[in-house]
Amino acid sequence: MILMDNFNNLEYSSALESSSEAQAWLAEQNTHFGHFINGSWLHNETADIMPVTNPANTEQLATIELADASVVDAAVAAAQKALPAWQALGGMGRAKVLYALARSLQKHTRLFAVLETLDNGKPIRESRDADVPLAVRHFYHHAGWAKIQAEEFADYQPVGVVGQIIPWNFPLLMLAWKIAPALAMGNTLVIKPAEQTPLTAMLFAHLCVQAGVPAGVVNIINGAGQAGALLAAHEGVNKVAFTGSTPVGKAIRQATAGQGKKLSLELGGKSAFIVFEDADLDAAVEGIVDAIWFNQGEVCCAGSRLLVQASVEQRLIAKLKERMQNLSYGNPLDKSVDIGALVSQEQYQRVDSMVTSGLETGGELYQTCEANISANYYPPSLITDVETSHPLVQEEIFGPVLVAISFRTQSEAVSLANNSRFGLACSIWSENINRALDVAPKIKSGVVWINTHNQFDAACGFGGVKESGFGREGGREGLYEYLKPAGLKAQKPLSKIKERSARSLSDNIDHTLKFYIGGKQVRPDSGHSQPVYSAKGGVVDWVGSGNRKDIRNAVSAAVKASAWSGSAGHTRAQILYFMAENLALRESEFITKLQTMTGHSAKQAKAEFTASIERLFTYAAWADKYDGNVHNVPYRGVTMALPEAKGILAIVTPEQSPLVSSISLIAAALAMGNRIVLVANERFANLILDLVQVLETSDMPAGVVNIVTGSRQDLATQLAGHAEVDGIWCWADAETIKQVEYTSAENLKTTWCHDDNDRDWLSDKQGEGKEFLRQAIEVKNIWTPYGD
Ligand code: NDP
Repeated sequence: MILMDNFNNLEYSSALESSSEAQAWLAEQNTHFGHFINGSWLHNETADIMPVTNPANTEQLATIELADASVVDAAVAAAQKALPAWQALGGMGRAKVLYALARSLQKHTRLFAVLETLDNGKPIRESRDADVPLAVRHFYHHAGWAKIQAEEFADYQPVGVVGQIIPWNFPLLMLAWKIAPALAMGNTLVIKPAEQTPLTAMLFAHLCVQAGVPAGVVNIINGAGQAGALLAAHEGVNKVAFTGSTPVGKAIRQATAGQGKKLSLELGGKSAFIVFEDADLDAAVEGIVDAIWFNQGEVCCAGSRLLVQASVEQRLIAKLKERMQNLSYGNPLDKSVDIGALVSQEQYQRVDSMVTSGLETGGELYQTCEANISANYYPPSLITDVETSHPLVQEEIFGPVLVAISFRTQSEAVSLANNSRFGLACSIWSENINRALDVAPKIKSGVVWINTHNQFDAACGFGGVKESGFGREGGREGLYEYLKPAGLKAQKPLSKIKERSARSLSDNIDHTLKFYIGGKQVRPDSGHSQPVYSAKGGVVDWVGSGNRKDIRNAVSAAVKASAWSGSAGHTRAQILYFMAENLALRESEFITKLQTMTGHSAKQAKAEFTASIERLFTYAAWADKYDGNVHNVPYRGVTMALPEAKGILAIVTPEQSPLVSSISLIAAALAMGNRIVLVANERFANLILDLVQVLETSDMPAGVVNIVTGSRQDLATQLAGHAEVDGIWCWADAETIKQVEYTSAENLKTTWCHDDNDRDWLSDKQGEGKEFLRQAIEVKNIWTPYGD
C-alpha cells in the first residue's frame, strides 16, 4: 500500500533550463537596445526608454529606446535605399541569404528559446519545441520560394518597402512569418516587435549581420503602439503586415485608407473546438490541452469555445476536469511545466477582470489551483453553464480560459461555431471522417483542423475571415501578400462629356431602366431617376438613383441566393457560356450603344464586344478548373487548401472600357461562386443595366447578380459598410476609394481597389487571369491527420 501511495503521489521534480547564456548575451549588449537600421545600431541618448521585464518574476531584463518619427523615417529610408540592390540580387542570391538565416537560427536554437521564455513567460518546452523550430522551418521553406520565384511568379513583382508590426505572443515566430516571405519575394522591410517582447528580435538583428543580410534590407525598430502607427501610415511604406488585436487592425485599416498600400491583417479569434459524440474523447481532452493551454491561451487561434454534443457533455467535462488536475504551472524555465506566466501584469489584469465581470452574467468557474498574481500565473480555467450570447463565449479572452457550451445536432454545431464575429480557426473532433469533412466547408474560418488543433507549417497558409482579418501567412497564398501584378499599363481617361443637353437622343418611347434585384426589375426606393448621357451630351436613357434601402434589398437578395456558392463549377460554367451565347445575339445593339456612349469608333466598339464574349468564355473555362492544393506539410496527414467563394461581393465598375471591364469582373466573381451586388458607374449605368436582359435569358438564379445605379461614391460606401458583404472590388476615383477602404474597417471586409484607369481591359494579360480568381476566393486550409 505504501508503495502504491507513493506511486500515485509521485511529483515531478523541477528541471530548470539554465538562463546563463541568455543573461550573458544580454550583458554583452549592456542590457540596452536602440534600433537596428541600415545594418547598424542607432542610439539616441535623449530617447524615451522602456524596461523589458521577465513576466514570471518581474525582474528587469533590459531597456529599449522608443522610436519617434525621426527613427521611423530613418528606417523606412534605409529600406528604400536597399531595395534596388536586394531585387537585383535575384532569386538565388536571396535564397542564399534566407538559407544562411535559417542555419544561424538553428545553430542558436537554445539561446533563442531561453531568451523567448525569459521575455514572454512561455514554457521553455514550447519555445524550444514549437516557436524556434517553426521559425527555422519558415526561413528554410522561403529560401526555396526565393529560388523558384522567377518561374512561379513570373507575372508578379515585389511590392517594395514593407512595414510589419507584430505582437507579443509568439515574438520570434511572428517575426519569421513576416520577414521570410517578404525577403524571399524581393522586398525590404521595417519591423516593429511588441514593446513587451523585443529581445529575440534584437538577437535576430545580430543574426542578420552574421548571415550577410545586406544593410538596410531588414530594419528593426523598438517602440510602443505609436511607433507602429507611424510605420503603418508612413508614405514610404508600400505594404503593411500586421498581427495583433482587432481594434488596432481596424485602426490601421482606417489610417491607411486611400494610400494605395497593400494590407494584411491577422487579428483575434474565438475559435470553436467541436466535439461530436462519436469522437475519441480521450484524444479530444488532449486536443483541448493543446488548443487552450498551449502558450497560456495567448494564441489568436486558441480553441477557446468548446462546443460539445450534449450526449457526451458530462463525460467529456469530467475527463477534462480530471486532466486539468495534472496540468503543472509555474516557472517557465522548468522543463516539466505545462503553463507559464502571462506576458505582463496588464495582460493578467485584463484576463482576470474579463473573467470576473463575465461571471456576473452567469456561468460556473472551475480551476484546479490558485492564481499567483506576482508571477502572472493565471490558473487553467474552465467555464460552464453559459449561453451562447454570454460575453465570455463571444469575446476573446486571450488567456488560459476555456468556455464550454453544448449542442444537440450537427447543424446546431455549425451554426454555433459560426455565431461569432471572428473567423480564424476551428477544430472538429469525430471518428467519422465523412461527418468531419461535411462540417469543415460549412465553418466560416480560414483554418479547420480535424482531430487536431494548433497545427502550423510554413508550407500552409494561415489567416482568417470576418473580424479575424484578411490575408494569409505561409504557403503560396502567403507570398501573394508581398507581390503585385506586373505589367499593368494605366490608360488615358475617357474624354469628358463637353456639354450635356436635356434633349433625348431618340424619339422612341421614354426608357427608364430599373434596378435588377432578386431576379426582378425593381424601381428605386426614392422614386428618383437620373439621366445618362451620350459621349456627345444627349440624354440616352434614364436610370434609377439608388439609396441605402436599395442596397439593403440587393444585399438581402444576394444572401438568399446562397445556393449559388455551393453549386458545382460545372453548373456555373454552363451559365457563363449561356450568357456569352445570349450576349452574342445582341451584338449590334451593344456595339451601337458602346459607340454612342463612349464616342469610340465601330471598330473599337466591336473589339470591346468581342473581348467581352471571350471573357465569359475564359471564366466559364476556369469555373471548374481553379482547384485547390494539397500542401506538403511535414506530418502524417493531408492538408488541403480549398478555394471557397468569398460569399457576397460588391463590385463597383470602372469607366474605362465599360462593357468588357464589367463583364470581366462579373464573370470572374461568378465563376468562383460569389453572389454579386454591382454598382454601375454613373456614366455607363444604362449599358450595364442592358445586361439584365442577358442575365434573365441565361438561367441565372434570382439574387445571384443584383445591379443598383445612382451615385457611385454613395452606393460604394454603403456597400463597404454593410455587415453582410464579404468583400468589395472597387474601380473608382481616389476619394471614393479612400471612403470605401475607410468604411470597410467596420467589419474588416476584404477590399480590392483601383483607379478607374489602371489597366487595359482589352489586353488578356491585364484584363483577365488568375489574379481575378484569387481575389474572388478565400483559401481554407483543412488539416486531416491520419493513423490511429
Ligand atoms: P495590440 O494589437 O495593441 O498590439 C499588437 C502590435 O501592434 C504591437 O506591436 C503594438 O505595439 C502595435 N500597436 C499598438 N497600437 C498600434 C497602432 N495604433 N498602430 C500600429 N501598431 C500598433 O495588442 P495588445 O498587445 O494590446 O494586446 C491586446 C489584445 O489583443 C490581447 O489581449 C489579445 O486579445 C489581442 N491580441 C491578439 C493577437 C493575435 O495574434 N491575434 C496578438 C496579440 C494580442 P506595442 O505592443 O508596443 O503597444
